[in-house]
Order: sequence, then C-alpha cells, then structure tokens
Amino acid sequence: MADIIKLLPDHVANQIAAGEVVQRPASVVKELLENAIDAGSTLVKLIVKDGGKTLIQVVDNGVGMSETDARLSFERHATSKISDAQDLFNLKTKGFRGEALASIAAIAHVDMQTRKDNMELGTHIKIEGSAVVSQEVVATPVGTSISVKNLFFNIPARRNFLKSNQVELRHIMDEFHRVALVHPNVAFHLYNNGSEMFNLPAASSRKRISHIFGNKMDERLVPVQEETEVVNISGFICKPEFAKKSRGEQFFFANNRFIKSPYLHHAIVAAFEGLIKPETYPGYFLYLEVDPKTIDINIHPTKTEVKFDDEHTLYAILRSSVKHSLGQFSVAPVLDFER
Ligand code: ADP
Ligand code: MG
Repeated sequence: MADIIKLLPDHVANQIAAGEVVQRPASVVKELLENAIDAGSTLVKLIVKDGGKTLIQVVDNGVGMSETDARLSFERHATSKISDAQDLFNLKTKGFRGEALASIAAIAHVDMQTRKDNMELGTHIKIEGSAVVSQEVVATPVGTSISVKNLFFNIPARRNFLKSNQVELRHIMDEFHRVALVHPNVAFHLYNNGSEMFNLPAASSRKRISHIFGNKMDERLVPVQEETEVVNISGFICKPEFAKKSRGEQFFFANNRFIKSPYLHHAIVAAFEGLIKPETYPGYFLYLEVDPKTIDINIHPTKTEVKFDDEHTLYAILRSSVKHSLGQFSVAPVLDFER
C-alpha cells in the first residue's frame, strides 16, 4: 500500500494557522499594535478604512528591523522574543509565538517598510498570500509601517462572514482601547476613513481612561490598590451609581495584557452586591500583576484567555480589595439604622 501522509506546504500551513489567529480585522489590529509596543515605540498610529476590510495600517517609531529580519518576520515560528520554552515563564513581551505576521501575510496583501536607527536606508517588502512579491531598499523613517489590505482575499467564506464596516470598526476600537489602556505612556492615534477618531497623548493611567471614555469618566473613578504575596492590584472601579445595563467598561489586565475572565468578573460583581441594581454591570479598569510563573497565557492563540495557578485566592483578594475601596470612598449603601 502506498503511503498517504505528506507535509503540508508552508503557505497552506500558514493559512490554516491564520484561521485561529485572525478572525476579523480587529485581530490584525491587535497583533500589529502589540508588535509596535514590543518594538519599544512611543508613538503608534493606527489607520483603518472600511472597518479594516480595505486597509489596516500601523505606523510605529520603534526599533525597526534589519533587511534579513524584515524578511524573516513573515516566516512561521520566527520570533525575536523567546529562544526556548523556559522563556515562556518569564515573558516581558506581548508576542512570543512568532506566527502573527506569517498568518496575516497568508491571507492578505501586506506592505511593510522598516528601518533601524543605525541604518541609513530601510527595507520595503510586499507579500501576498505568503508569496514575496517584491523587496527593495527604501528611504523611510526609523520604525515600522505595515499595511494590510484585502484581508481574506483568498478565503471568500471568511470575507463574506465579516460584519458591517460599523461593527468591524467597533471591534477594532475595542482592541485599540485595550492596548492603549495598558500603555498610557505611549501616544496613540486612530484614523478611520481619513478622519481622526482618537488622539491619545502619553498620560497617566487615570488620564488615559478619560481620554478614551470622555472627561465625565474621571469623577466616576475610585482607585483600587492592593499589594499581596499573590498579586498586586491597581486601577479603578466606577462608582456604583454609574453601573450600566450594557457591558463595555469592564477591563482586566494581567501582567500588561487584556484578559477575559468571567470568574474574576464575578468577584467584582460580588463586591458590588447590594450597591447596584440586578442586571447592571459595574465599570472597572483593573491591572493585576502576578509572578509570570503563576500564569499561563499560552492556552489560546489570541492570548486573551489565561490560566492562573491560584484563581480562588485571586478571586478572594480582588473581591475584598474592591469592597475596601467602595467602603473607603463611602459609596457603601446607607444602612437603615444610620438614617
Ligand atoms: P511575535 O510577535 O510572536 O514574535 P510576529 O509574527 O508578530 O511574532 O512578529 C515576528 C517578529 O517580527 C517579531 O518577533 C519581531 O522581531 C519582528 N517585528 C514584528 N513587528 C515589528 C515591529 N513593528 N517593529 C519591529 N519588529 C517587529
Ligand atoms: Mg507579534
């Protein structure tokens, strides 16, 4: 009997991997913004057209790439951020899987210009569906500019599945906010169809929140601060009277990464018990810092679901420190006998 197993060609493997990493334009935005942050940028511009379906561009002033690195960055499992499995337990960067650019280039038209500051000229490289179309030397500012056009051009089923430009833009803004909230010291701009939607100067974390959500946000914020053996917590909760029916102002960050955690969300809701109406959600912007050895962020390609070693203790600490803040800022309910 003839053997039937074969290795998939790279471009096919990349396209399959892309299915996990890139669900929609916002996933590309997340990956590109994170790369810009990892490159040490202080100014990052995000430019989108038609909800990212026509164009997603990120321009940064980070360290840039050499000619060889520029080419290599599009290879699968190509990363400058880790070199062995041990590094996974002490990550300082957002990226480490080395598959975002390879995935994106497999399913879109990518145009990158990049230059390191010790080089006089930079590199301009174009890739379409994993194939390098052109590579040349170019005069370009220090840093990196990547444009991603015609996302899912070779996967019509995915392209057709995209929602309206408005909805896709909403998702893009969510990713933009998440990254901007973790890096208040970095200036961010967002342009949509040629007009500026956000201009976020470098600021304190409290100011960054109001720059994003509006000035009225500032008076709603109550600080949360707690340092324990297991976790350091900082950030803000919104006063109970501003709890909303709709979600959208709930943010957990763990070791400088936005994370989703229904379990920890419940800890906050529990702390607000009796202070807010049922079916409403308290706003919060909470930054958790744990020993990198006690958190696994490699359980899903998008890295928003994480696994904590000691989730129960984390829950208890979160709940009590939020309660403490609510009490300290006298936003507790007025008890009957006090009336
Ligand atoms: P990862 O971020 O997981 O390493 P990526 O595919 O996102 O994988 O990027 C591959 C590599 O390309 C990175 O490790 C980095 O060295 C380089 N790179 C990507 N984007 C940038 C950028 N904006 N500035 C400098 N280097 C970059
Ligand atoms: Mg990356």
